[in-house]
Amino acid sequence: MKIKQTDPEVSGWIEKEEERLAFTLELIASENVVSEAVLEATGSVLTNKYAEGYPGKRYYGGCKFVDEIERLAVERAKELFKVDYANVQPHSGTQANMAVLLSILKIGDRIMGMSLDSGGHLSHGASVSFSGCLFENHPYTVNRKTELLDYDEIARQVKQVKPGMIICGASSYPRVIDFAAFRKIADSVNAYLMADIAHIAGLVVVGLHPSPVGFAHFITSTTHKTLRGPRGGLILAGKEHGHLLNRMIFPGIQGGPLMHVIAAKAVAFKEAQRPEFRDYQVQVVKNSRCLAEGLEKRGFRLVTGGTDNHLLLVDLSHQNITGAEAEKLLESTGISTNKNMIPFDPLDAIRTSGLRLGTPAITSRGMKEGQMETIAGLISDAIIFRADPAKISDVKKRVKNLCRKFPLNSRKL
Ligand SMILES: *Cc1c(COP(=O)(O)O)cnc(C)c1O
Repeated sequence: MKIKQTDPEVSGWIEKEEERLAFTLELIASENVVSEAVLEATGSVLTNKYAEGYPGKRYYGGCKFVDEIERLAVERAKELFKVDYANVQPHSGTQANMAVLLSILKIGDRIMGMSLDSGGHLSHGASVSFSGCLFENHPYTVNRKTELLDYDEIARQVKQVKPGMIICGASSYPRVIDFAAFRKIADSVNAYLMADIAHIAGLVVVGLHPSPVGFAHFITSTTHKTLRGPRGGLILAGKEHGHLLNRMIFPGIQGGPLMHVIAAKAVAFKEAQRPEFRDYQVQVVKNSRCLAEGLEKRGFRLVTGGTDNHLLLVDLSHQNITGAEAEKLLESTGISTNKNMIPFDPLDAIRTSGLRLGTPAITSRGMKEGQMETIAGLISDAIIFRADPAKISDVKKRVKNLCRKFPLNSRKL
């Protein structure tokens, strides 16, 4: 590769990262492994092109081929999710959310998003995000006892707050979200409903999680989590909102679209229509359940007592270790996870009582139920015997062996 000669420093770190990925059990629920085709599109000459505007209405010349690419991406997104409007230009999930909120609401309007510790995302109204700075957020939480969304309670709160927009969708909620119930609640106060399916988009596409289409006025997503595409965002809606949303993405909050990423999104949407993609998502959920059972069997408490989707949230408060400590400990053995607050967490977001685990990336590597049982054992051994260096080095060895048996191979995806 050229970069090796021209920039050995950066190229060296890329090689290091490749090696890290190859010998790491990637359990970060928001990460995945893209196909070689998606990688190729992302690394293509399309990165050279300025294409402000939309297909057929650009502010630059030379767009006839990138126009075709964006049209393909939009058509495929519409087909995949069964909607009649899609915008594939958002640079990220946060950008997609920003465009919807800014085009539909006035600054200072009330919104209601899920609280961070209940599983919501920063861009759903957290005070440190644009969404909490520009809008007045009245967060809802899960039920303290069941740790599940409590639709009666949310309905009661909504009637008091009367928000302009309700945001549903989450980053660390292991159960099914009832979009129909949310729509009923939104209708009760004439509010808009936005469903952010960043995490579950892959499951939604194949019908393993109910679709928000027909219930949410606006649907936003990332393309890089369970959907297994390039890093980026996506907006879906009814045609009637298309003009406003397009204008808010460009020129409202973004400049030139990333045409190389849009090409990669088109490739990923096509991949998501293949029967193999459904098989993959089915295995993701099977693996998640199996990992959950393996951990429960070993004495770990899972938030909500299990999972219906691709992720699980472990409550570590009984193991006498914080989420931050567990994340660091597991990373030292080659297991990549992230600390996460649990509902009503007594610890702050830096320490946390929880650990979030997800199966999209290891399932892309070909791992199945047998390996989930092994991984549950590895996590448990590392945490329980953390004071014993011999045990920890044994876990490291077992992690490496497992990685060797399931090589990272983008070509096979
Ligand atoms: C990951 C995520 C996002 C944001 O994605 P970025 O691309 O990192 O901005 C938005 N919403 C939810 C629910 C997410 O989980």
